Amino acid sequence: MKREDVSWEHLLTLKPVLNHGRMRINYRNYGYLLSHVVWNINNPDDIVKSDEAIHHIDEDPLNNDISNFSKMTRREHAKFHKPMRTHCSEGHEMVGENLNVYERIRKGRLGYQYQCKICVKARNKASYEKNKERRKAQSRANYKKRKEEDDAELAQIRKDMGVGLI
Ligand SMILES: [Zn+2]
Ligand SMILES: [Zn+2]
Repeated sequence: MKREDVSWEHLLTLKPVLNHGRMRINYRNYGYLLSHVVWNINNPDDIVKSDEAIHHIDEDPLNNDISNFSKMTRREHAKFHKPMRTHCSEGHEMVGENLNVYERIRKGRLGYQYQCKICVKARNKASYEKNKERRKAQSRANYKKRKEEDDAELAQIRKDMGVGLI
């Protein structure tokens, strides 16, 4: 993410812009989160890696004071912002391994989407079975069509050569 030819200190001299609810510093073709830049300057031996996130302790993404930061993995971070509901519509508990988390942008702000893994698997299996039935029906239809064409061709040959020869 970080370009070799620009220092975090230099990035901090540039004017950040609001982007998807977070402060971002644009430099050439790259965008750097202000929180990452501030963290990296203060923690040169522990810079934010690609699978890590900076959580704003007071939940205000515009407060980019180092005291407001807590670094964690993206997965931890997503779980930190817990889903509104603890159970899916089927009643499975959405915790631990049964919780799928996606980052997504909604109404211009970065947020998280939570899914019940059991239900995702069940949905995938159901759609696979449905497709399997459709493929079977399609191949039956293809066979029938081919057979009809063959029969018609055979009937034509019989007609041409005289009934009963073949
Ligand atoms: Zn956070
Ligand atoms: Zn479920």
